[in-house]
Amino acid sequence: MSTQYTIPKTQTAAIVSTAGAAVEVKKDHPVKSPEELAPGECLLKMHCTGVCHTDLHAALGDWPLKAKTPLIGGHEGVGEVVAIGANTPNSPVKIGDRVGVKWLANSCLDCEYCRKGLEQTCVNAKLSGFSVDGTFSQYVVSYVHHVTPIPEGFDSNEAASILCAGVTVYRAIKYSQTQLGDWIVLPGAGGGLGHLAVQYAKVRGLRVIAIDTGDDKEKLCKELGADVWIDFKKSKDIVADIKAATDGQGAHSAVVTTASSSGYTQAVDYLRPGGTLMAVGLPGKATLEASIFFTVLKSISILGSYVGNRQDAREAIDIAARGGVKCYYQLKKLADLESVYTELKEGKIAGRIVLDMQE
Ligand SMILES: [Zn+2]
Ligand SMILES: [Zn+2]
Repeated sequence: MSTQYTIPKTQTAAIVSTAGAAVEVKKDHPVKSPEELAPGECLLKMHCTGVCHTDLHAALGDWPLKAKTPLIGGHEGVGEVVAIGANTPNSPVKIGDRVGVKWLANSCLDCEYCRKGLEQTCVNAKLSGFSVDGTFSQYVVSYVHHVTPIPEGFDSNEAASILCAGVTVYRAIKYSQTQLGDWIVLPGAGGGLGHLAVQYAKVRGLRVIAIDTGDDKEKLCKELGADVWIDFKKSKDIVADIKAATDGQGAHSAVVTTASSSGYTQAVDYLRPGGTLMAVGLPGKATLEASIFFTVLKSISILGSYVGNRQDAREAIDIAARGGVKCYYQLKKLADLESVYTELKEGKIAGRIVLDMQE
C-alpha cells in the first residue's frame, strides 16, 4: 500500500460521552491505523464537516432511535482517502481521492432494499455519527463503496452540506412527481435545507412558492429564484395565498422539511387534485394528521423521503459542483461545536455551519 501520508496515532475529536452530555473536544483520541482497517474500509483525513440538526438529536438522544455512546457525531464530511483496508477488491476510490461522508455510511448492498436503490433503509445500514463514529474528528473510518466522490475543482466547504441537507432535499424533489413548470411549495424555504431546496427546484424547472418569515429570508429566497414569497407571520391565510398564486388550483407538490405537524396538515388543503405531499422532516414525536376524505377526493399522494442513496448523492453533488446550487454557510472550528449546538437549539442559525478540520 502507498504510504504517501504520515498518519498520526492520535487526533482531535469531538466526543459526546453519554446522551445529553456536553461535547468534549479531545486531543488524544486514537486514529485507527491502516493495518487495522477491515476490507472495504477506508481512512479519510478530513478537510471539513457540516453540522446538521440530526447531530443535535443524536447528541441529545431525543429520537425514538438512540445513537451509540460514546459518540463522535457528524455526517456531512469531506476529506481525502489516506488508506484503504488490505484485501479490498474493486475499490471505486483510490488513495488521494477527495470524497464525502454522508449519513448512510454503509449498507449491505445485497438485501431487497439495497437492490432496489433504497439502501437508506437497509437493515444492516451503518449511520455516520449515529451508529458508527462520524466526521467530527480529524480522521474518519468510512467505506469505499459508500463514500461520494467530490468532483475536481468543487470546494470542500461548498460540498459539505450538500452531502446531507442537499441530498435530502434533492431526492425529495426528484420523487415529488412534479413536471417542468409545476408549482412546488417549500415551507422553511429560507433555512438550511430550504434554501438548497429552492435552488434544486429551480434547476428542475419548477415554480417555487417559498414560505418562511422575516426580511432576510425573503431577500434570500427571492435571490435564489423563488417565484412567490409568503411570510407565514404576515399571511392571514396561507392556503388562500397559495391558491391565489396558482390560478385558484393549488400547488402540484409540497416538500415539507419542518418539524411541526401543522405544515403537513395544511399541505393537503393547498395541493391541487393529484398533488403530492413529500414528508422530509424527522421530528421525534409529531404525527401527520390529514383529512382522509380530501386525500381521497383530491387523489393526493402522501410520500416520505429519507436522505438519499449513492446515486442521489452523486447527482446532488454534481449539480452543485456545476454551479446550479450554492450552499450558504458560515465557517467555524471544531472547538465551536458546543456553541453551534446551542444556537441550533435556539433556531438562530441562518444557512448551514461548516467546521474547518484542517488546522
Ligand atoms: Zn443531516
Ligand atoms: Zn441492504
